[in-house]
Amino acid sequence: MSLLIKDESPEKLIGEDGKRLDGRDLNELRPIKMEVGVIPNADGSAYIEWGGNKIYAAVYGPREVHPRHDARPDRGILRTFYRMTTFSVSERKRPAPGRREKEISMVIKNAIEPVLFLELYPDSVIEVFIEVISADGGTRCACTAVAILALADAGIPMKGLITAVAAGKVDGKLIIDCSGDEDKSGEADLPCAISWYNNQIALLQFDGIMDLEEFDKSIDQIIEALEKIRKLQEEALKKRYIDVRDHLKNYKPKVVTTNNIEEKIDSNNQQNQNGGDQRE
Ligand code: UDP
Repeated sequence: MSLLIKDESPEKLIGEDGKRLDGRDLNELRPIKMEVGVIPNADGSAYIEWGGNKIYAAVYGPREVHPRHDARPDRGILRTFYRMTTFSVSERKRPAPGRREKEISMVIKNAIEPVLFLELYPDSVIEVFIEVISADGGTRCACTAVAILALADAGIPMKGLITAVAAGKVDGKLIIDCSGDEDKSGEADLPCAISWYNNQIALLQFDGIMDLEEFDKSIDQIIEALEKIRKLQEEALKKRYIDVRDHLKNYKPKVVTTNNIEEKIDSNNQQNQNGGDQRE
């Protein structure tokens, strides 16, 4: 019987063989799976599985702003809501949104907002609801990646995609894509997002200690990883469009000719007249 309590922090995060606890190399990403268009009731949606993270994003809008005084006559506004479900981590999370959720909602909004053409939607709001069903480190990065896919699915015009990943330092070694354990017990955590249309950093946070050389090296590793993740995002979007095209192949629109229309008007007039006669 294992005496390891589930939330106990491991003493060493890198084994004798140089591998991490989950068997990854230092610069290896966790498996990532993305799907676009997963929530029929939303205007746009996406799902991501990234290691132990499972996250849905749903977009509603552009729609009327409530309260009305938040509306801007010159542009639309973007609202993002990052939430972790109570069962997303091993120790039950309080249901009310805490300071951390508000902060993550804000950093995701700040990363995404500049790439959207919000000036096309005056007096409107676009809302992105992001639900973390299962969390295992790097959720703000996974949420940023999935939120931009949901916005693309909703047809919101954008200058380009945003991709994010966290680098870190554990047992004195630089790593990419920190898991929950590595995030909690490591020496540094460096989440970073890039906006591809101008190759600018869209999000950069830092928690821990690294020297400048390590920081530079981490940024290089981040860029290499981000290129891989962007390809997955693009594939997920392309697949969505192929699915829609396949669906439309079987769609046979009813052809309405001028004759049909005249017949229909005649029959409607006839029906109205009969109804009128009966009432008289
Ligand atoms: N976490 C947790 N309980 C909480 C908040 C976070 O167990 O109330 C875990 C969760 O796995 C999360 C990780 O701690 O992914 C790291 O959280 P952090 O605040 O660094 O944000 P993230 O790395 O998820 O963006």
